[in-house]
Amino acid sequence: MTARILIVDDDHAIRNSIQEFLTILDFKTYTAESAEKALSFLKTYHVDVIITDIIMNGMDGLEMTRVIKENYDTDIIVITGYTGDYSYEEAISKGADDFIFKPVRFEELLLRLKRVLRERALTQERTQMLERLKELAITDDLTKLYNSRHFYHQLENEINRYNRYQRPLSLLLIDVDHFKEFNDNYGHLEGDRVLYQIAKLITSCLRTMDTAYRYGGEEFTVILPETTCDAAMAVSERINEVVKNELFIEDDKKDMSVSVGVTEYLPGELVTEFVRRADKAMYMAKEGGRNRTSLLLP
Ligand code: GH3
Ligand code: MG
Ligand code: MG
Repeated sequence: MTARILIVDDDHAIRNSIQEFLTILDFKTYTAESAEKALSFLKTYHVDVIITDIIMNGMDGLEMTRVIKENYDTDIIVITGYTGDYSYEEAISKGADDFIFKPVRFEELLLRLKRVLRERALTQERTQMLERLKELAITDDLTKLYNSRHFYHQLENEINRYNRYQRPLSLLLIDVDHFKEFNDNYGHLEGDRVLYQIAKLITSCLRTMDTAYRYGGEEFTVILPETTCDAAMAVSERINEVVKNELFIEDDKKDMSVSVGVTEYLPGELVTEFVRRADKAMYMAKEGGRNRTSLLLP
């Protein structure tokens, strides 16, 4: 992608000659005659690198550098003719990414610009990789739902929110019925496929605020913020219904079902107590004949 460069200098001859040089080299270039104009340009447009003079009327280039570094993802190369007044250290401490003296030699400017752009690309790559790793760390490989580590983390967050705002909070614990039998009859690989399919069906029943997790094995959880147990029961029964209505093995007309435990958070209780109650409710659903939802209130 073509790099976008903003040249900031109150001397129009310098501004224009740098712009001309960089435009010939296929950079997308813009100019501003003051720091104020540059800052207002950045409110609307993104640029990758700014090349700026230091001494200008109004705000100087170093102060502008400080402001931009605090607010934008932009690299800055500062140019100065007053080598005695501004040290390299001072420019760097304001956040400048590189430094070049007047009179500007274009070859040097280009070398420094390329170096800054290369580092910028590397940083972006690293950031993307870290984000991907973070995502992987909270995702269950098989179902692509969040994993149980993230479940506990999010549940803690929701409980803290509850204690601040006293909004209702409900929890579902879902267990696939007779799943061992399914594995025995159709094989573990088909079993994996069914888990993926059930995860999708659960997700299809949720509202935007709700989140689903693979709790472990053939068990799932759903956190429902801002939701009373009555509304949670309705979501849960919908999950019972869509799973029951799905044909998992077409030729065998094989259907599956889930048992769901529903409960609501009791102020002040521990995460473990909250989850244990949902688990108990789920066992009540199993004992009641499976393919159903059971509610257990605190
Ligand atoms: P119930 O209705 O009482 O829940 O019966 P169940 O057979 O589902 O319960 P049980 O706890 O006896 O068995 C759970 C089965 O889930 C056994 C295990 O092999 C299977 N299972 C757990 N994780 C996976 C997985 O990732 N893939 C597959 N294919 N099977 C799994
Ligand atoms: Mg189980
Ligand atoms: Mg089971």
